[in-house]
Amino acid sequence: MIIDCHGHYTTAPKALEAWRKSQIAALADTSQARAKGALAIGDDEIRESLEGAQLKLQRERGTDLTLFSPRAAGMSHHIGDAVTSRHWSEHCNDLVYRACKLYPRNFAPVCQLPQSPGVAPANCIGELERCVNELGFIGCNLNPDPSGGYWTDPPLTDRWWYPLYEKMVELDVPAMVHVSASCNPAFHFTGAHYINGDTTAFMQFLTSDLFKDFPTLKFIIPHGGGAVPYHWGRYRGLAQDMKKPPLKELLLENVFFDTCVYHLPGIELLAKVIPVENILFASEMVGAVRGVDPETGHPYDDTKRYIEAVTWLGAEDRRKIFEGNARRVFSRLKA
Ligand SMILES: [Zn+2]
Repeated sequence: MIIDCHGHYTTAPKALEAWRKSQIAALADTSQARAKGALAIGDDEIRESLEGAQLKLQRERGTDLTLFSPRAAGMSHHIGDAVTSRHWSEHCNDLVYRACKLYPRNFAPVCQLPQSPGVAPANCIGELERCVNELGFIGCNLNPDPSGGYWTDPPLTDRWWYPLYEKMVELDVPAMVHVSASCNPAFHFTGAHYINGDTTAFMQFLTSDLFKDFPTLKFIIPHGGGAVPYHWGRYRGLAQDMKKPPLKELLLENVFFDTCVYHLPGIELLAKVIPVENILFASEMVGAVRGVDPETGHPYDDTKRYIEAVTWLGAEDRRKIFEGNARRVFSRLKA
C-alpha cells in the first residue's frame, strides 16, 4: 500500500472560495453580525472536483491513500481574527470530511486549525477535538507563523503552544508543520515562505527541550524538511556546540520529513542523510508545482518515481517510506 501523507483539497468547488470572499468582504463592515452561514455544495460537485484531479493522479501514479487536508495557502490565518478563522476552518474541515466520506479508500482527513496571530493556540483545541473525536480526523496542520511571513508569534517551542500539544498527545494525533500564504512581499509563498517555515521549525526544535516535555509529540516537516537535510552537518555541529545530544537522540523520535522534493538528486540526498524510519512518502499533489519536467518528461510532483529510482534503497526501506512510517506516525489511521 502507498500512503501519500501530504495532499490538499486545492480543487474544492468554487462555492468555498465564494464563501471566503464574502466573509472577507464582510470584515470591512463592522455593522454586520458575524455569521458562519452555510455552504451549499452537493456531493456530485465534490466528486467532480476530485475525479479529474487527485483521484485521477492516484490511479495514474499508483498511489492508494492520500492524507487529505484543506488548501494550505487558503488557511490564511492572518485574515480577520479568531472568529474569522474558526468559521473558515470549520467550513474547510467539513468539506474535507465530506470528500473523505465519499472516498474512504482514497482519502483520510487531516484538519486545518483556526489559528490567528496573537491568539493563544489553546483556542484551537475545540476544533481539533471536534475533528478528531466527532469526524475521525487523524492529524492536523499547524501553522508556525499565523501572521503570514512576519513571525510575530512565539516559536513553536514556547509554552504558548503547550496546551495544544497536550491535546495532540491526549488525542494521539501528529501535526504537519505547515505555513500558509505569505503576505510579506519578500517571501514567495511556496518557493520561499514554505521552505523557510520548514527550516525554521526544525531549528526551533533543535534549540529546545520540547520533546523532553512531550516525549510522544510528533511533527512532520514537509517539503523534504526545507533546507535541513542539505545542511545536516551544520545542524549536527550547532547541536554539538550547544552541548545537545546527537540529533538522532534529540529529535528523531519526534520529527519526521516528507518526500515533497521535486527531483531525484534531492530525494537521494534526503534518503542518504535522514534515517528511513523518519521519511514519509508524500507528493503534495495537486499543489505547489503542477508542471512537467522537460528533462524527465514526468510531472515534478510525481515523487513516487524518484523513490523507486533510488536503487540502493531495499524493499523493506521502501515499505517503511511508502506505508509503515505513515502508519506509525498517524496512529489513528489504523482505525
Ligand atoms: Zn502542503
